[in-house]
Amino acid sequence: SLLERAGRTFPTQPAIAHGERILHDYGSFSRRCAALAGALRSQAELVQGDRIALFMKNSPEYLEILFAAWHAGITVVPVNAKLSGGELKYILGHSGARICFTTPGLAETVHHIADDVATLEHVIDTGTATFADWFNTVPVPVADLASDDAAWLFYTSGTTGTPKGAMLTHRNLITMNYGYFMDVESVAPGDSILHAAPLSHGSGLYVLPHVSAAALQIIPESGGFDADEICDLLGTHRSVSFFAAPTMVKRLTQKVRERRADTTELRNIIYGGGPMYLADLRDALDVFGNRLVEIYGQGETPMTITAKSRALHARCNTPEHAHQLASVGMPNAVVDVRVVGDDGATLPANEVGEIIVRGDTVMSGYWQNPEATREAVVDGWLYTGDRGCMDEYGLLYLKDRSKDVIISGGTNIYTKEVEDVLLTHPGVFEVSVVGRPDPEWGEVVVAFVVATDGGDVTPEELDQLCLEKIARFKRPKEYFFVDDLPKNAYGKIVKNTLRERLRPGTD
Ligand code: ATP
Repeated sequence: SLLERAGRTFPTQPAIAHGERILHDYGSFSRRCAALAGALRSQAELVQGDRIALFMKNSPEYLEILFAAWHAGITVVPVNAKLSGGELKYILGHSGARICFTTPGLAETVHHIADDVATLEHVIDTGTATFADWFNTVPVPVADLASDDAAWLFYTSGTTGTPKGAMLTHRNLITMNYGYFMDVESVAPGDSILHAAPLSHGSGLYVLPHVSAAALQIIPESGGFDADEICDLLGTHRSVSFFAAPTMVKRLTQKVRERRADTTELRNIIYGGGPMYLADLRDALDVFGNRLVEIYGQGETPMTITAKSRALHARCNTPEHAHQLASVGMPNAVVDVRVVGDDGATLPANEVGEIIVRGDTVMSGYWQNPEATREAVVDGWLYTGDRGCMDEYGLLYLKDRSKDVIISGGTNIYTKEVEDVLLTHPGVFEVSVVGRPDPEWGEVVVAFVVATDGGDVTPEELDQLCLEKIARFKRPKEYFFVDDLPKNAYGKIVKNTLRERLRPGTD
């Protein structure tokens, strides 16, 4: 009903832009979604509580289907458009989706596996006349929903195993919405949000605060992240914010510097979803000033565990507080965050333990997986599987995913600390540090390195750098120079694949 409310309050406010072109205002966006909701009910015969999957690139239709589904009381299963047919089949089958919406270029992948998914009744390509005709259906009123009804069934990206479906309720999403206004940024009509990261990612939920505030939603024509296109769009639209994964921030920083692009209309870059290395952050601060907001979250409590606001970035950008730049910020106002030891007791400041979260943004559970739910949520606390510590000021520092921590000779080594050091070498573009099984030490540290274009870097130089900056035992024992690092559909490095490469007998 957030969209319906925006449609009534700000009917002439621009709502959706495709590239530079405005397509709909809030009045028409709201009417189109009500009609499409009617089609989901009458033409597709869906009932409240059914699930539909969106295997689509970012497009204006994506937003319309998303809001039409919520209007009709249907749960949305977002699927990253970069997933393979096999991965899509798993998610469609597991979620029991009755319709899969797709876009030209991706439809073939869906058709290829559709017969193998028993629950799937329709594959709808948004480029077809059938879909266009659905907007002529008689609108239906907004469904009568309870706050605990499921809104989003979000499959985790699977960097640590088979994807699990985190069930997010309407209460979860509304609370995330409040959290955005309190901890990320305020939004008003006339502001814009650019969807350059996949809408299927947790950050795709940032459509909500912007619909609540009747701000403009910009869909890039490329349907994804293109640093040149972002520079162009900053020249067209006003007061633009967007979410970017750390790798995107790095590429955009380079592009803006290279083009000397005008970023006056950039409101904020909201980054997160994976580690931001200090060298890259300093570079970004240099180019964008303090217009950066970091968020830390996960599919199970989307985008809302901590935030490092503009004000915090500004504070950390002073010599006195520079060490706090490495933090992921303060716990969000809408959740409780604690760092606990193995016995579940809260640890004192600066001691490393598991990060746990409680609050109305935490998922109601994993879809059809009570065992995984019991493991992840204990007495209302979500165990994130992330290790970190909180300083005296209350800022949280992430050390590693529990599964990525290297235990060498009985001592924990946090891979990000080593990666942060290696990235300060100008010849290193990207790096990933993992543990290799070792008969003497249990595990030893090894590093996979992507050199910068034409970069000149040797293992000896990197070893020297580590000797100067970190304890001897944390130094990688071996370096592998590679052309690229294995990444999943959200651009995150898949350390499991790197570890597999190190198993005896693998090339
Ligand atoms: P899976 O749970 O299937 O292994 P995943 O780890 O990629 O997949 P997501 O929910 O996609 O799960 O990502 C959440 C994780 O990303 C967090 O638990 C954390 O490890 C990491 N992350 C998120 N934000 C940040 C951040 N600002 N800095 C560092 N890491 C982050």
